[in-house]
Amino acid sequence: MDLYSGYINKLVEELSALPGIGSKSAQRLAFHLINMPQDRVNRLATTILDAKANVRYCSKCFTLTDREICPVCADERRDRTTIMVVENTRDLAAYEKTGKYTGVYHVLHGAISPMIGIGPGDIKIKELVERCSAEDVREVILATNSSLEGETTAMYISKLLKPAGIRVTRIASGVPVGGDLEYIDEVTLGRALEGRTEL
Ligand code: ZN
Repeated sequence: MDLYSGYINKLVEELSALPGIGSKSAQRLAFHLINMPQDRVNRLATTILDAKANVRYCSKCFTLTDREICPVCADERRDRTTIMVVENTRDLAAYEKTGKYTGVYHVLHGAISPMIGIGPGDIKIKELVERCSAEDVREVILATNSSLEGETTAMYISKLLKPAGIRVTRIASGVPVGGDLEYIDEVTLGRALEGRTEL
């Protein structure tokens, strides 16, 4: 017996496809949405559509932005010879909060993970290599997570860039293994950056 309306079932199905939302949470959210006033539902729907329509990748570092070039890349005071490689825009934001980093970034949008079928071609590695050969890059700091995927990705990039004579460093392991960078406090991140080691 189908206890709910087909519309609710569809909504629960869409919500439970989102990361971190299990079927229980999806049901709770679906009923919450249905019970919300019409104007708030409209505002939420419009906000999602607007974000999707306006947010894109920075043409230089691939972070998410609503401009052609993100504020970090557009800032003349940033040192363009140093590129920090991060897995996502949230990690970039975490490093920006430390206030200790004056270079620019490169956002991979993921990490190599053979387990779930993500290869080097599925993240922005080719774009990083192109950037390093087109611009005067002296150091690439690998700040991917210390998970197996993050380490694999760091090693892979290091092997690509070192033969080109670029200094490749890895952030220090003050960062807990398997830890997501965005949850680590600014002081720890700042230390990890200062204590980086040569690869
Ligand atoms: Zn950028």
